[in-house]
Amino acid sequence: MYLKSLELSGFKSFAKKANLEFNAPVTAVVGPNGSGKSNVAEAFRFVLGEQSIKSMRGKRTEDLIFNGGESQPRANRAAVKLVFDNRKRLLNIDFDEVAIERVIHRDSLSEYFINGSAVRLRDIVELLAGAHIGSSGHHIISQGEADRILNSNSRERREMLEDALGLKIFQYKREESERKLEKTRENMEKVESLRKEIAPHLKFLKKQVEKVEKTIALREELKSVYREYLKRESLYLAETEKALAEEAAGPRRDLARLEHELSEAKKVLEASKHKDAKSSELMSLEAKLKSARESRDEVTRTIGRIEGEIGSLERMLARERATANTEAVTVEYSKVKGFVGRIEELLGDIEGAKDLGGVKAALAKIRESLKLFLESNKNTKAQDRAGELEKEIRLLKERKEEADKGAKDAEAELSKLSSAYASLQGDIEKEKDSSRDAEKSMFRIMAEENEIRGRLSVMAVREEKLRLEKVDFKREVEEGAVLIGRDVYLYESDTTEHAAEERSLQEERRKHIEKIKVRLEDSGGLSAGDVMKEFNETSERDEFLARELVDLEKSAASLTELIAELSEKLDTLFSDGIAKINKQFKEFFALMFGGGEASLAVVKEKKRKRGPSPEEIEEMGLEAMAEEEEETEVGVDIHVNLPRKKIKGLEMLSGGERALTSIALLFAISQVNPPPFIILDETDAALDEANSKKYGDMVESLSKHSQLIVITHNRETMSRAGVLYGVTMGREGFSKLLSIAFNEALAVAK
Ligand code: ATP
Repeated sequence: MYLKSLELSGFKSFAKKANLEFNAPVTAVVGPNGSGKSNVAEAFRFVLGEQSIKSMRGKRTEDLIFNGGESQPRANRAAVKLVFDNRKRLLNIDFDEVAIERVIHRDSLSEYFINGSAVRLRDIVELLAGAHIGSSGHHIISQGEADRILNSNSRERREMLEDALGLKIFQYKREESERKLEKTRENMEKVESLRKEIAPHLKFLKKQVEKVEKTIALREELKSVYREYLKRESLYLAETEKALAEEAAGPRRDLARLEHELSEAKKVLEASKHKDAKSSELMSLEAKLKSARESRDEVTRTIGRIEGEIGSLERMLARERATANTEAVTVEYSKVKGFVGRIEELLGDIEGAKDLGGVKAALAKIRESLKLFLESNKNTKAQDRAGELEKEIRLLKERKEEADKGAKDAEAELSKLSSAYASLQGDIEKEKDSSRDAEKSMFRIMAEENEIRGRLSVMAVREEKLRLEKVDFKREVEEGAVLIGRDVYLYESDTTEHAAEERSLQEERRKHIEKIKVRLEDSGGLSAGDVMKEFNETSERDEFLARELVDLEKSAASLTELIAELSEKLDTLFSDGIAKINKQFKEFFALMFGGGEASLAVVKEKKRKRGPSPEEIEEMGLEAMAEEEEETEVGVDIHVNLPRKKIKGLEMLSGGERALTSIALLFAISQVNPPPFIILDETDAALDEANSKKYGDMVESLSKHSQLIVITHNRETMSRAGVLYGVTMGREGFSKLLSIAFNEALAVAK
């Protein structure tokens, strides 16, 4: 026995606290009409969480609260408490006694309690479902409701049976899983749309990253090419310097020796007795030649320097021009607008042109405008720098022209002096006189000196060129440090190699470097750190979302599986349960009617057609249509076959027959899956004496598995009860409850 007691206070006609103890398998509640017996049955519904006020014969919640009687003021709250013996853990909660209570006030919603702790309705419903006490109330048969199961449609009947078979708990689980699945799908959609939102940005960032990576690679390339270039250049400079020094060493030594010899010869000549006009002419000619040569050498060096500078400036100019063509520039909107306006004007001219000549003229103007626009909007800084360089080059070229003229003059002066020198030499040579030895050796020395000076002068040009190349190199190293950082100085690390290669290769390297520089400038000032950071963050987020999607898909799959399993379980349990009920139903029916046959049939009905929505058709095509076809619903039909009568339909049964059939079915259901308690409110009202006896027998046999509370006027039924409660309503207008003996009960029996 699971039911211990029911306490009503302020509920409907029970103004004062009334307590029913259920310490017998069958408890009968008896009393005159209108005394409040049915209110007791409703109190059960109420405390078990019934939400339909109508099923408790009220319109509003307030109707459930005692409304006042002659001497009794109305109550402000109605409370019903049902106490279970839970030693066998009927309810899945760790207490030996469980009290479920529901309270309502006139101005508020229901409150629920389990053992005094406030809980939600859901907690009550779930707790009871676990104990096979369902909300459809299959175990509470209200007055006049005995044949409810016959009156209801096949779907409602199925629900009642499911509840009676204890399938509700699986249905809750399935519904919960379906809710979860729905939620999961919503989340999946959310995640998918988030990913879709991120996708273009991620794509953009990926491109940026690729650009950054390209830039990094370009920088690396630049570093290595630059270092190679500088290494080669430094080797070339060192080797050229060394070679020049070696080459010049001999002639310089010879020149020093000749200078010495010359000064010796001069000394002799000056001191000699031969000192005559020719000798002094030779002396002065020598001095003039020397200075003429020196000034020619000076001019030659100047020319070399100017040429070197021009070369270096021209290289810089090429670079600036390249920059001017590639670097991004900002053009003022008004300027662009003006330009577009001008082009439109010219296009208008074309449209309005009368002949091909007009069109051609306008086209030429357009071309001119385009060129002008491009030219005028080139990178101005680079352009300015290029302009300055051009100016410098122009100036240098002018200076070179001057120097060239100076060189020409110097050459002319030299050749004039040389021929004077030659004729003097001829004269002196003719004098086959040893006395001219000093002069002759002077000629020899001078000739030799001339030759050596010529060589040295050529070398001086080369030296000058080298000096300029060194200056360029220094500048290139500095530039390199700006471009690729301190790493640039690493070119010095290896000095064992030789620059034994064509100079043109260095020229190519230089071009290569310029190309890389232009490409680097093209790639723009992307901040590698920022781009990488944003890309990493965004792709991490995307990966996170992808993982989440996988997780959601997994849980959707397992939920779908769980739902399918539960559905299958429900199907099997349902059909097994129906088969068992059928067996009992047949027996009880035959017992009640003394023969005949009755059975339940599971039927599949097509659900009211729900056409697929246009979106569904678009998404799933014909599948949507096919699915609609499959939407069927399971119901339960009842077939009866009375003995000796040709009645088949339920509608043709008499009131008593209906009552008997439904009692047979109710009892069959209760037999198969006995609920902890059954409340029968005047279910026996329509029975004659013979059938009352059968009913009483069945009540007794049912009470072996379920506790029974019967509200009755039937003496036979009363006789089967272990405990009897009498309900009375006096003039005060509220119900009173008292425990009575069987004899007392008979007073209200029919
Ligand atoms: P019967 O044997 O005729 O079926 P019963 O004993 O089952 O009668 P109930 O239907 O349980 O009687 O009780 C109905 C009585 O309860 C009525 O007198 C009705 O006025 C009273 N009642 C119902 N709701 C309230 C309420 N909110 N306040 C006071 N009395 C109420």
